[in-house]
Amino acid sequence: MFAEIIAIGSELTCGSKLDTNSQWLSRELESLGWTVMRHTTLADDMEAIVGEFRAAASRAQVVLITGGLGPTLDDITRDALALAFDQQLVRDHESLQQIRALFEARGREMPERNVRQADRPQHSDVLPNSCGTAPGILMRVSSDGDAMSVTSDVQQASKGCLIAVMPGVPAEMRPMFERHVRPVLLESGVVLRRAVIRTFGFGESDAERMLGDLTARGRNPEVGITASEAVISLWVTARSESVEEAERLSSETCQLIRERLGDAVYADGDDELHDVLIAILKCKNRSLALVEGATTGGQLAMWMSENGSVASVVKAAMVIPGGWDAMALRVLGVDPPALEIDQQEDWLTLATVVSEKIRLNYNVDFVLLSSPFYDEPLDSGVVIRRGHVAVSTADEIRSFDVSMSGNLAIFRQRAARTAVNRLRLMIKHEFFVGNADQ
Ligand code: AMP
Ligand code: MG
Repeated sequence: MFAEIIAIGSELTCGSKLDTNSQWLSRELESLGWTVMRHTTLADDMEAIVGEFRAAASRAQVVLITGGLGPTLDDITRDALALAFDQQLVRDHESLQQIRALFEARGREMPERNVRQADRPQHSDVLPNSCGTAPGILMRVSSDGDAMSVTSDVQQASKGCLIAVMPGVPAEMRPMFERHVRPVLLESGVVLRRAVIRTFGFGESDAERMLGDLTARGRNPEVGITASEAVISLWVTARSESVEEAERLSSETCQLIRERLGDAVYADGDDELHDVLIAILKCKNRSLALVEGATTGGQLAMWMSENGSVASVVKAAMVIPGGWDAMALRVLGVDPPALEIDQQEDWLTLATVVSEKIRLNYNVDFVLLSSPFYDEPLDSGVVIRRGHVAVSTADEIRSFDVSMSGNLAIFRQRAARTAVNRLRLMIKHEFFVGNADQ
């Protein structure tokens, strides 16, 4: 269901005034489930306005127009509307009385030129203006440009194009939209339902490939993909004439997404990956300890400490600044040579000994660890930050390479999410799946 907005006024096209109406109306339309495809700004020029009215009505199901309803000769929106859709202009006597009454209430006589503000195309309705003299106009035209009577009937409404003309003055336009146009749009039966599915473990283009036809433009529900801090979110927007239908369409598409992306889906809605893990651990009555080298640098502890249930799940958390020696010394109380730790080659050895000690000390089921990191400059000039995370259970330990180039904060978040996600998957399947270093 597509909408267009047309702003009319030479003061807009010449640059002396900014078109704020279109922005405001776009937000309103989007919140009602309409996709706004085009904003057009036109000077007070009959030929341009008539041509644009016809073109917009042939493309969109809703066209909102502001401006050009004033009493002066340059305000020609009414005339253009009648001309564009082959309508006679008729004088609306109720509107005329209201305009006259407004002047009387201000202690003035209505100037003759204001009479034309009561004109409207023959087959149209008046949108009352509670804040000024210019009434608006509501009309429905079929896509071939023939005028039809305005209807709130859903069947009819889905066929033609609804045109609403409102004053340019924002203080008059906004209440008119809220009181008289929004209710008609709601009756036109567009209902919007938005759902979001969070995934982790692959990139945007992988997600698009796996989703296939679901991301096709113009599909209902629409599926949009956004990436933020290594989390890929899928936004499902379903539009329909009824709430039930919109919800059905939305849940069908969400189900398809879950089937296609499988384990990568970790939550519906706004849940964070670490909150999902804490909920799983709590539910299964399992406990966790964190041992973080510079690769996650406290990111895991920081995220998890924000969760109200953390105390019942995370029994210990330590962040170890410095390199390999520091980790061995701080956790094990021994010098690395005694362990024959040879930098990252032996990360798994160190992680194994450390996690065994931690599991024993704190009596936990799982340990999430991250290594110190180091930077490796490549010949190309790119610097790779090398680091690992590890997931340890009573039976085994797995290490995952999280090396990447670029921003340290993103490196840490991605590493921390990788550790959390690996433990989530491991608990889900009761064994390790996917690629690991070992
Ligand atoms: P009009 O209805 O064309 O007589 O417009 C009256 C006044 O409303 C103009 O002089 C502008 O100050 C203001 N106006 C008209 N169109 C817009 C618009 N699209 N956005 C913001 N203000 C507008
Ligand atoms: Mg104007």
